[in-house]
Amino acid sequence: MSYQHHIDKERCKGCGLCVSVCPKKVLEMATEINDKGYFPAYQARPEDCVFCAMCSEMCPDVAISICQVDDNVVGKTRQESTHG
Ligand code: SF4
Ligand code: SF4
Repeated sequence: MSYQHHIDKERCKGCGLCVSVCPKKVLEMATEINDKGYFPAYQARPEDCVFCAMCSEMCPDVAISICQVDDNVVGKTRQESTHG
């Protein structure tokens, strides 16, 4: 079982709260704007992320999601696709 960290950069309003709360200094603000004209946050050092979820709890725009990835799901999906 592993985790995935995802920032929806089009939801992000560039407030920087997630960057300031991250205990591992994983996040930084991008230098390119998104469709809304904000500089979104991104994982500059994803290898340092401990998936503590501080950033996703802090984000006022619910732009950050952390989900568990079951490695077995890939195998199951492949089995289902053999039908038809
Ligand atoms: S989950 Fe924790 S360590 Fe990872 S980016 Fe968010 S605040 Fe930082
Ligand atoms: S807290 Fe949310 S809205 Fe603010 S910079 Fe981070 S991802 Fe963007």
